[in-house]
Amino acid sequence: LLTIDGVWKQYHDHSVLRGIDLEVAPHEVVCLIGASGSGKSTLLRCVNLLETIDDGAIFLDDAEITDVRADPDEVRKRIGMVFQSYNLFPHMTVLDNITLAPRRVHGVRPREAEEQARELLDRFGLSDKAGEYPDRLSGGQQQRVAVIRAVATQPRLLLLDEVTSALDPALVTEVLGVIRELKDAGMTMILATHEMGFARDIADTVCFLDGGVLLERGSPEQIFTAPEHPRTREFLQRIL
Ligand code: ATP
Ligand code: MG
Repeated sequence: LLTIDGVWKQYHDHSVLRGIDLEVAPHEVVCLIGASGSGKSTLLRCVNLLETIDDGAIFLDDAEITDVRADPDEVRKRIGMVFQSYNLFPHMTVLDNITLAPRRVHGVRPREAEEQARELLDRFGLSDKAGEYPDRLSGGQQQRVAVIRAVATQPRLLLLDEVTSALDPALVTEVLGVIRELKDAGMTMILATHEMGFARDIADTVCFLDGGVLLERGSPEQIFTAPEHPRTREFLQRIL
C-alpha cells in the first residue's frame, strides 16, 4: 500500500532521515519507536508531504506521491494524520469538526456527512458530544474526536504521531481503545509512539529508528524480546 524508498531528509546540513526504506502492506500496523530526535515525526511528515524529501521516493498505491507533478492536496485526501496536540477547530462543534473535510474536500452531501459522523461518534462512545465545542471536552475525548475526524474521510492510510503523549495516563487508555478498534476494522496505520506496551500490543511490525536510520525492524516479539542490534537493546533497556 505504501512504499518508502531510500528517503533522505536534511535540515540545513543536518541529515535527519538517512535512506529510509519501508514497505507497509494493506491492514498493516507499523509502530515507529526510537529516541527523541531520531526522526519519527519527520518521517510521518514526509509521507504526508508536509516536508519535501531530498532524495528517494514515496509511493502510495503504486503512484509516486513525491513526484513533483503529484498534487499534495490530492495525496492528503487519501492520508489521515493525527498529531500529539489534537488541534481541533476551537470555534466549531465536534460534529462540524468531523464533517468539514468530507463536505469541503470530498464533496460529500451535508446530510450524508452528518450521518457518517454520528455513526462514528456512536461507535467510539461520543454520541452525546456532537454539539459540544472542543474546550468542553476532556483531553482524551478531544483526541478521540481528532482521530474520528481523520478517519471520517475514509483514508487509505492513517498516520498517528504520539497521539497519547499529551494526555493524562488515565485518558490514554480510551484513545488507545479507538486505535485498537480501527486496527480491528482493517485500517492501515503508521504510529510514532513512546508507549512500548501499546506498540507491543498493536503493531504488526515495529521499526526502531536511530539517528535517522531504520536500524532494525521486526515483529513486536522479536524487537522487544530479542532485539538484534546493540543500539536497540540499549534503547529498550533505558526506557523499559
Ligand atoms: P520525538 O520523539 O521527540 O518526537 P522524533 O523522533 O519525532 O522525536 P523529529 O521531530 O523527527 O524526531 O526530529 C528529528 C530531528 O530533526 C531532530 O534533530 C530535530 O531537531 C530536527 N528537526 C525537526 N524539524 C525540524 C525543522 N523544522 N527544522 C530544523 N530541524 C528540525
Ligand atoms: Mg516526534
